[in-house]
Amino acid sequence: MTEQREQNAIGERYLLNFNTDDIPYEFYDVVIIGSGIAGVYTALSIPKTANVLIITKETIEINNSVLAQGGIAVSLDQHDSPELHFKDTIYAGAGLCNDTSVKVLVSEAAENIATLCLYGVNFDRDETRRLSLTREGAHSVNRIIHTGDATGKEVCDTLVSAVSDLENVTIKECTYAIDIITENNVAKGVLTTDAGAKQPKAYYAPVVVCASGGYGRLYTKTTNPEVATGDGAALAFRAGAELMDLEFVQFHPTVLFHPQNNSFLISEAVRGEGALLRNINGERFMPTYHDMAELAPRDIVSRAIFQEMQRTKAQHVYLDITHKDRDFLKRRFPTIFNKCLSYGIDMSK
Ligand SMILES: Cc1cc2nc3c(=O)[nH]c(=O)nc-3n(C[C@H](O)[C@H](O)[C@H](O)COP(=O)(O)OP(=O)(O)OC[C@H]3O[C@@H](n4cnc5c(N)ncnc54)[C@H](O)[C@@H]3O)c2cc1C
Repeated sequence: MTEQREQNAIGERYLLNFNTDDIPYEFYDVVIIGSGIAGVYTALSIPKTANVLIITKETIEINNSVLAQGGIAVSLDQHDSPELHFKDTIYAGAGLCNDTSVKVLVSEAAENIATLCLYGVNFDRDETRRLSLTREGAHSVNRIIHTGDATGKEVCDTLVSAVSDLENVTIKECTYAIDIITENNVAKGVLTTDAGAKQPKAYYAPVVVCASGGYGRLYTKTTNPEVATGDGAALAFRAGAELMDLEFVQFHPTVLFHPQNNSFLISEAVRGEGALLRNINGERFMPTYHDMAELAPRDIVSRAIFQEMQRTKAQHVYLDITHKDRDFLKRRFPTIFNKCLSYGIDMSK
């Protein structure tokens, strides 16, 4: 902890005034803040001899993970390798990625996907029972495994069901982490509140895992649910954790543009299956921005869409997949197809 932070610790260390002698408490071996894929997968990975608590500020299924549509990148194809996955990722990150982190991502992906399959996650498979691989932006080969267009829901439903069966894991919903309790700069537990509580409650544990997700809700336009407000990062910071790279927030290129809904993601997998971006005049524009056209890295596609909207003085562009068969679209993208149809938009027309 820096000198400045030590000084802050005197006056501003915690959001609430509380006395640990006066508030209710429980003891665990591990407390995990967050019930997205990070929190739940961590709980499943901890030895069953440890008493684990997951706290989550809404009901268990309200998080970003459940909303993931397109799928998960993993090098499984015979023409693919962790080295190629590494190269593509470094390119997509415009040289700003941390090499060590990317190496972990690409080299440990396959074994973790195998673990998800063992838990029973039902990814789509081809006629030979191999995992189906599709293409997404900046990947030079097909390497996205998926469950239709609702991959996150399938993964979360399966993992939540598995963790709910564990006797060593307790889940407390609608329980809001306010601060990490520290003593001599060491995490000792989590100060929480829940709906209707008259006073905070402490959950003590020698290990605290902060798996509280991102902060997309800081922006007016976002696909993130209401829980993604970044308070996990803030409480970790107050406790003395060093935060890094906070400026890197991903702007996904395509969401539905409709008066009744402008936060529904249209998965990149739609472009992976051949959808073309057209401006308000019906002209395809991505080839003039990047060699990979619609499958360029996301930041490039997002900026191109923005520029094209400014250039044509329009508030939206079109994503055109009308050249694909209607039955294929219904089968491959059932969630997106039906959501669009509920607003009177038929993806095939
Ligand atoms: C619409 C959409 C589509 C996406 N599609 C894909 C995709 O196809 N492929 C892909 O790889 N990634 C995708 N992503 C990104 C991916 O979903 C996230 O990177 C991932 O789910 C993050 O998981 P997480 O567990 O870290 O966070 P989350 O799933 O957001 O979970 C965070 C948890 O922390 C809890 N929490 C937060 N603050 C507190 C607090 N103070 N107290 C208690 N609990 C708290 C929340 O309630 C929540 O349960 C998508 C994201 C979105 C929004």
